[in-house]
Amino acid sequence: MNAQNKKPDSPGTLYVVATPIGNLGDISARAIETLKKVDVIACEDTRHSRRLLQAYGIDTPLVSHHQHNEHQSAPELIRQLHTGANIAIVSDAGTPLISDPGFTLVRQAHAEKIPVSPIPGPSAATALLSVSGLPTDDFRFVGFLPAKPSQRKKRLAALKESPSTLVFYESAHRIGDSLHSLVEVLGADRLATLGRELTKTFETVYHGTLAQLRDFVAADTNQHKGEFVIAVAGNPSSSPQGITAEQQKLAALLAGELPPKKAAKLAAAHHNGDARAIYRWLTRKT
Ligand code: SAM
Repeated sequence: MNAQNKKPDSPGTLYVVATPIGNLGDISARAIETLKKVDVIACEDTRHSRRLLQAYGIDTPLVSHHQHNEHQSAPELIRQLHTGANIAIVSDAGTPLISDPGFTLVRQAHAEKIPVSPIPGPSAATALLSVSGLPTDDFRFVGFLPAKPSQRKKRLAALKESPSTLVFYESAHRIGDSLHSLVEVLGADRLATLGRELTKTFETVYHGTLAQLRDFVAADTNQHKGEFVIAVAGNPSSSPQGITAEQQKLAALLAGELPPKKAAKLAAAHHNGDARAIYRWLTRKT
């Protein structure tokens, strides 16, 4: 049930607007229209967002609303929303609140019965999932891992048994260390997909085992630059189907050439598995 008193599009609406994760062409027509019509845009970095707005001829005033002033700036934005002002929140890239500021403001808006309306669009997490070749019917967004190795490994150990596909964000200066920890804690053979600089000139999508991802990044200094998102297959032995990473890998490979039933049968025969369970996994009929 919608707990809001007013409908979206009534005066005093907070719009949560997604912006591109690298390619300016990925902004939506509704995002442009909304950013033009609102009274004010709350953004992480006014200089960064001004460049985006200039590209689309948008001259709506910007106010700063970032990780470090969120608690101070949210009450003022809420006050303006109560007076009937329409406000959009954007982040530097992608969808606000997804490893980005906005949570305090959105939560306060709900508490005060202010309409909150999404203008959906790009996010590095969903962009990678869509091309990952990993199950997307059950995924878990983890975001950034802790910087300290001991805490990072502890966090990963808590995720080790999860049957869900796991999605991590990572920066250039920690990608190598994080891939090492992923291999160490989740195991070298887990299937995974790395997305680097998605939608940008030097986009890389690399699919393989975690050990292959680690070695791929280590072997090429170009792969140390930019922004990274990693999707890791859930623990196969924790999944209800109990299919191993090897069975998944072979079945997925064969399914590219053969009907799913035949692919499942061959993968099961080769790896001593359950053909029906592999078929269900292949066709996502859980
Ligand atoms: N709100 C954003 C979203 O919806 O994706 C994420 C913001 S978070 C502060 C920034 C992180 O997102 C980067 O360090 C990287 O892990 C990931 N990211 C953002 N853009 C990316 C891109 N083009 N390719 C790969 N990863 C990206």
